Amino acid sequence: MKNLEPELAARQANHLYRSRRINDTPQGPECVIDGQSLINFCSNDYLGLANHPAVNASFRKGINRWGSGSGAAHLVNGHTAAHHALEEELADFIGRERALLFSTGYMANLGVATALLERGDAVFEDRLNHASLLDAGLLSRARFQRYRHTDVGDLEEKLSSRVEGEKLVLTDGVFSMDGDIAPLTALAETCQKQQAWLMVDDAHGLGVLAEKGRGSLAQANLTAEQVPILMATLGKAFGTFGAFVAGSEALIETLIQKARSYIYTTAIPAALAEATRTGLQVVRNEDWRRTYLFELVARFKQFAGETGLPVMPSDTPIQPIQVGSAEQALAISQALFDEGILITAIRPPTVPEGSARLRLTFSASHTEKHLQQLFTVLEKCFPSPA
Ligand SMILES: *Cc1c(COP(=O)(O)O)cnc(C)c1O
Repeated sequence: MKNLEPELAARQANHLYRSRRINDTPQGPECVIDGQSLINFCSNDYLGLANHPAVNASFRKGINRWGSGSGAAHLVNGHTAAHHALEEELADFIGRERALLFSTGYMANLGVATALLERGDAVFEDRLNHASLLDAGLLSRARFQRYRHTDVGDLEEKLSSRVEGEKLVLTDGVFSMDGDIAPLTALAETCQKQQAWLMVDDAHGLGVLAEKGRGSLAQANLTAEQVPILMATLGKAFGTFGAFVAGSEALIETLIQKARSYIYTTAIPAALAEATRTGLQVVRNEDWRRTYLFELVARFKQFAGETGLPVMPSDTPIQPIQVGSAEQALAISQALFDEGILITAIRPPTVPEGSARLRLTFSASHTEKHLQQLFTVLEKCFPSPA
């Protein structure tokens, strides 16, 4: 049996060791971690729904109606009327024939790639795709190729050199660690021309972008024909947990038959589906949350421009600050922590070598006071380059 200690020690020495801090508060803009009061600028609770009274009330009511556990997989007897209603409401929300709930986004991505592809097919991925999309491509057993970040020309070249078998292109809608939006219109055109499937993972776009929060595809005016596979998660803007894939009747029926990460796992609790149905109502009905969220983003970008903060080009609530070395990213994150601001350091292998960063995210639950405190502390921890 191999000795595990040396690799752990090497990770420590390279500032790549990961450890968990214990949070003692419900999800929200303020939290207490290891006894320290902090303003949270790193969660994915973009609309402030993770601890929303109406969502919580539906969760409780759901437990009264359905109990705590779902007891079985969807194909056994875990698929309740609550799950089914949520699927229908999600399909209606994004304007597709069907939606299929998965227990997590990671599993949804694995399920699609492994159900649609086999040996002899090919999968194409943006180099900066989320780890779950990369793993899905690798596990599909199809030939795996990455194209340069948002480089549709590079993708086109790779697609056109491939004649045999199915082709599947996978991309984040909003890139999770960078905050930029994929060139979706150009990707869709290229995929149509090259007869490739296009799947967009809109984990950070759905609920956040476009009118009613219909996501990055709605913002780019793309139809179900242009982007046949949409995946999104429910643990971010929707405030709860889980994920879904949306598309045609035939796509969803294929996933039900073949996606092993759908078939061989317990359904999410029905009460959670009830909570998510209420989350969806808030996402749909409260445009003010998005308007306010993007006001915060605009104010931050203005601040960053004025103070020379090295932000990355992003127009979404994900606003990474470039650092470079993992060691420095950790040191700055700790300095911010000591000043009461929580922004975690993102290091390799989550991001490429040499591109460690602080991933700052905004939420509609942030107040003016939170924003001012952020600016004050950033100015202190990132002295102006001049
Ligand atoms: C968070 C995330 C996932 C994984 O979703 P979970 O439901 O947390 O497993 C997949 N893709 C992207 C782009 C994500 O940001």
